[in-house]
Amino acid sequence: MLKFKQVSEEELQRQRDLCVENKALWGNEKKYFIMTFGCQLNDNDSEKVAGLLREMGLSRAENKETADIILINTCSVRENASGRFYGNLGELKALKRANPNLIVGVCGCMMKQDVYVEKVKHSYSFVDIMFGPADIWRLPEILNRRLRGSRRVYDISNEELIAEDQPVLRERKYRALVSIMFGCNNFCTFCVVPYTRGRERSRNMDDIVKEVKTLAADGYSEVMLLGQNVDSYGKEIREYRKAYNNVFAELLRRCAQTGIKRLRFMTSHPKDISLELLDVMAEYPNIERHLHLPLQSGSNQVLHDMNRHYTIERYLNIVAEAKKRMPDLQFSTDIIVGFPGETEADFEQTLLIMDKVRYASSYTFQYSPRPGTPAALAAQVPQDVVDARFQRLVELQNSHSLEIAQAQIGRVCEVLIEGLSDHVDDRYTGRSSDNFLINFSVPKTAFPGRLREQTPQAKGDYLEGKFCRVMITEAKTFSLTGEYVDGLPDNFTE
Ligand code: SF4
Repeated sequence: MLKFKQVSEEELQRQRDLCVENKALWGNEKKYFIMTFGCQLNDNDSEKVAGLLREMGLSRAENKETADIILINTCSVRENASGRFYGNLGELKALKRANPNLIVGVCGCMMKQDVYVEKVKHSYSFVDIMFGPADIWRLPEILNRRLRGSRRVYDISNEELIAEDQPVLRERKYRALVSIMFGCNNFCTFCVVPYTRGRERSRNMDDIVKEVKTLAADGYSEVMLLGQNVDSYGKEIREYRKAYNNVFAELLRRCAQTGIKRLRFMTSHPKDISLELLDVMAEYPNIERHLHLPLQSGSNQVLHDMNRHYTIERYLNIVAEAKKRMPDLQFSTDIIVGFPGETEADFEQTLLIMDKVRYASSYTFQYSPRPGTPAALAAQVPQDVVDARFQRLVELQNSHSLEIAQAQIGRVCEVLIEGLSDHVDDRYTGRSSDNFLINFSVPKTAFPGRLREQTPQAKGDYLEGKFCRVMITEAKTFSLTGEYVDGLPDNFTE
């Protein structure tokens, strides 16, 4: 019998009952507004919060002003997180004054750090509810206490359990985010995640595969498997360790066999990623031809100081093995510039690795200290030095991105259409399996039936979630432009 750190079925049923009770207490026509900051794990958490609020009879408000409950789902990883958080809270104070019945709530990573919790308690006492990232499943109970008269319900538990079968209101109708594990054991010296999200807890593999299968059957085109370090999925479960050489590779294989058209995953860790995982990627064409492999630094000394537990030699070996199996694979990465102790020679090493790997894109960050992390206590690199290095790094990345983009001209690729482009009139936008953002036009004749005469927005709504083939005609640093070739289904029913 496999043991997972799961919420019991009795407890989940109690929360379901409280949803019904809250619906009766709240009445109809109440609306919610959620502000989400940070990574895709936070996006997925907000989808779960929205799912629970829907169970309580609420619908989504167009804006903060028309909401009956406003929640801020916080992130403490990104730069200037605290500044933005307090700025947003300050704005809500005026709304709360105008409407005393408004419920204001804060949740997410920051609520696992005393420094923020204490500040909210003392300086933003109008906040009605507060809970941590592992407490989302208890939202019905937290709100019930507030609706029954408790002035403030600040309830952040230390117990970090996994709640299965939770209602999820997905942001997009074609792409589903699926968290496969929670927390992180790695304690990189710059990162707060292990302190805010706790130790690694993996979901049951059967539950994940069942969820992906259901999503595929429900018409979702793409599933993104999420975890802070997906490559260590399942390693804390003894039975999985005994049964599989690499547990995540097995999970990815089983998910690829569900019938889902495109499968992505994020984030890999160079110390844990296995050759077996690369084999699985190469074997299944519905797994993305893109690997996000955080580098952080090209210097072994800096990697050591970051507590990353891999060397540049290992990193480059993984890249070489991946390219050997999938010559068409594109890489992206995360890089931190100006980590404490980074010398000019260390930084040059980072540029050297970028030249060797040639990332199609990268998330580049200037190091900034996070309260409570070891690196925050170390001597910092002067800001003018960090600025200058960052500038060089961005220029190099942009030149690589443009060069790789230009190499795509003339290629025909399969695009998962995301809808009407926000930036170019009458163009549609989507992504290839190797993660290029592609804007493209579709001739009128490619649309079925009466849709041909309808607005670009109506056509975009129809296209969302469908695949088509696009010929790349033009390249920019951050996007490609192309022309529709074929592939749209002609079974449109009006
Ligand atoms: S692997 Fe490192 S950077 Fe990633 S979440 Fe864990 S501690 Fe943070």
